[in-house]
Amino acid sequence: MNEVIFLGTAGGRYVVAYQLRSSAGTVIKVEDELIVLDPGPGTLVHLAKKKLQVRKISSIIVSHKHLDHSADLNVIIDALTEGGFKKRGSLFITEEAINECIPLPYLRDFLKNIDFLKPRTEYTLEKGISFKTTRLLNHGAENYGLLFNMPSGKILGFITDTAYFEGIEEEFKTANILVINVVRYTRLKGVLHLCIEDVKKILSKLRPELVILTHFGMSMLRANPFKLAKELSKEFGLEIKACYDGMTIRV
Ligand SMILES: [Zn+2]
Ligand SMILES: [Zn+2]
Repeated sequence: MNEVIFLGTAGGRYVVAYQLRSSAGTVIKVEDELIVLDPGPGTLVHLAKKKLQVRKISSIIVSHKHLDHSADLNVIIDALTEGGFKKRGSLFITEEAINECIPLPYLRDFLKNIDFLKPRTEYTLEKGISFKTTRLLNHGAENYGLLFNMPSGKILGFITDTAYFEGIEEEFKTANILVINVVRYTRLKGVLHLCIEDVKKILSKLRPELVILTHFGMSMLRANPFKLAKELSKEFGLEIKACYDGMTIRV
């Protein structure tokens, strides 16, 4: 059974700092292999709590260098490879992150391979899974959206951290299941994140069968993501869910 397990749903700095939501990453479980996406702070702890064995990780993908997406990468590489005694795991990461010592240089040889994420490029993982990157998103840091080809034939898309830009919908139009990082409830000038108004704009141009909102900052938590998701579902006639820590969906 293949599933997506959202270990954490925290986005904004305050929500991460006070762990109002967990800031652990997302796991795509294919048969008994694990793909870890954006291992933020607490990922190792939450993998253990969910009884997901770290040595079963086949690939780690880091969409961009920010700590809420990469803080546990070092400790996960060390755990996965038993301190380098077993060469395991493939890492997909931006060149910018590598240049800023993510992961630490001494850990890099522990991995089977490291691939740079580039715009609109396809990467093959184990078990017949592949994923594609989108064009560069608008987030200040080098960052890409991701589209996974799942064995079921479904395409699982992740709109990772970004501000709205003209043409964003085009990048994710093939997604059957669309995960959207929506940090802000209202727009805050200069903050390169999506707000609810942006999500509405995106959803007016796309028809995925399931939308999952996640990566919440404080203004989103105050506005009650579950209520917002319900209202959006009604407005757009789509199935829209607000993510919670530990939420699992089948793909
Ligand atoms: Zn983030
Ligand atoms: Zn970010």
